[in-house]
Amino acid sequence: MAKNEDPLKRIIAHAKEYGFVFPSSEIYDGLSATYDYGQMGAELKNNIKQYWWTAMVKMNENIVGLDAAIFMHPTTWKASGHVDAFNDPLIDNKDSKKRYRADVLIEDYIAKIEGKIAKDVAKGLKRFGDAFNEEEFRATNPNVLRNVDKINAINDRFKKALNDDDLADVKSLIEDLGIACPVSGSKNWTDVRQFNLMFSTELGSTADGASTVYLRPETAQGIFVNFLNVQKTGRMKIPFGIAQIGKAFRNEIIARQFIFRMREFEQMEMQFFVKPGTELEWYEHWKKFRINWHKALNLGDDNYRFHDHLKMAHYANAAADIEFKFPMGFKELEGVHSRTDFDLKAHEEFSGKKLQYFDAAENTSYVPYVVETSIGLDRMFLAVFSSSLKEEELKDGSTRLVLTLPPSLSPVKAAILPLTKKDGLPEKAREIFANLKYDFNIQYDEKDSIGKRYRRQDAIGTPFSITVDHQSLEDNTVTIRDRDTMEQERVEIDRLYSIIEERVSYRTVLKKLES
Ligand code: ATP
Repeated sequence: MAKNEDPLKRIIAHAKEYGFVFPSSEIYDGLSATYDYGQMGAELKNNIKQYWWTAMVKMNENIVGLDAAIFMHPTTWKASGHVDAFNDPLIDNKDSKKRYRADVLIEDYIAKIEGKIAKDVAKGLKRFGDAFNEEEFRATNPNVLRNVDKINAINDRFKKALNDDDLADVKSLIEDLGIACPVSGSKNWTDVRQFNLMFSTELGSTADGASTVYLRPETAQGIFVNFLNVQKTGRMKIPFGIAQIGKAFRNEIIARQFIFRMREFEQMEMQFFVKPGTELEWYEHWKKFRINWHKALNLGDDNYRFHDHLKMAHYANAAADIEFKFPMGFKELEGVHSRTDFDLKAHEEFSGKKLQYFDAAENTSYVPYVVETSIGLDRMFLAVFSSSLKEEELKDGSTRLVLTLPPSLSPVKAAILPLTKKDGLPEKAREIFANLKYDFNIQYDEKDSIGKRYRRQDAIGTPFSITVDHQSLEDNTVTIRDRDTMEQERVEIDRLYSIIEERVSYRTVLKKLES
């Protein structure tokens, strides 16, 4: 990669070139922040879903699945708070005509001050060497203290302005801090307005009888409104969970950074219903389970960190993000939230129906508390894809682009490559293909030199390349090349199934969750 090249750009280019992700409706120049998954992307995405579904639903006997509709009764979103409060404060720069989230402008400003603090700390370390005590330095250095006070003052004022719905003061804060538009450099701002992130449309064929419905901004509410249906028909006993994978839609003000922030995306969510008072134990349980699920993929333990929420959503009594080191830095990949009984209580109130659980052992009824795990499938795709793409220098001085995907997630598990297009080798290769195709996604490729074909498979992350040569016709053996070590081994054709199965099965990865 050329120096200073944006690493995300290379990832976007690779994703497009090899059929993972395309800009949506590209022949019409695309649609902003909307993407299509290509022939390889669809496979990778399905495999991530399967890894999640198996770990959450199949491996936990008290978790079941659900597939709710995207459209829901509009009152759902009144009850959940989304109609009134699912807003972002937006502001436009009058000169560049660019639109920003006011909170992001302020957060970026704070990040700059944090950068100054980090610089002071680094200077201290340089000066005092091993004798440097960072904690003491932060507690006493006048520059650091002044900057910390500054950050606290900004945070306090911003929080108060949002709580009081005082958008004029949010604008004044931006002006007082002297924040300029990154594009035009001007401080010529419009007023701050609240912008609801839900997409709406009309249900019904005539304007008269039509009612406004929303495209769901999260999949969770489909689970809450079905809580009793599932509990009763599945005879579920608390604690139990309902899991769902599905599309969600948010009219994000600034959607960028590829598939990290889109307007149409997919979520994998699980709501776990527990007895009130036990929620914080379950919250810890699910934090641990989810971080283990991530780490079992071997993308590098240092790529993850927890970020505990200091400012909680109104419905939560504990919340943490699992952050991943994306090409643009550590960012939220998944949220684990203890949502109390906020949602079920709100739906009871708005629907007039009881949403309670009868605890036979204690002979009482109660509204369960909920611990939620919520991960964006597209963000998970980006995490896996970006951390797997590597440019490797080889012994002979050449380089290769390789996608070291976890084999269980690889779109293609093995490629069958006849060494030449004649002498009966293609027929033999097709025979092997026909045998393996029921169990694995296999590619047959006879075009170009064998070296080029290996590179193509490396670039899409195929764990095995199987070459059929003249010896194969004589003794029923083939060579099998390992993507990561590039080593080749001659094996009997009859052994191919078990060799591939052992490497690509989810079992090896999932077993780690139980240890
Ligand atoms: P952010 O702060 O990044 O906007 P959020 O806190 O609003 O995210 P949640 O409402 O907790 O996100 O949604 C759960 C998960 O859904 C997130 O952790 C993320 O992986 C995913 N997600 C949320 N918004 C988007 C989006 N616009 N595009 C892609 N994935 C998203």
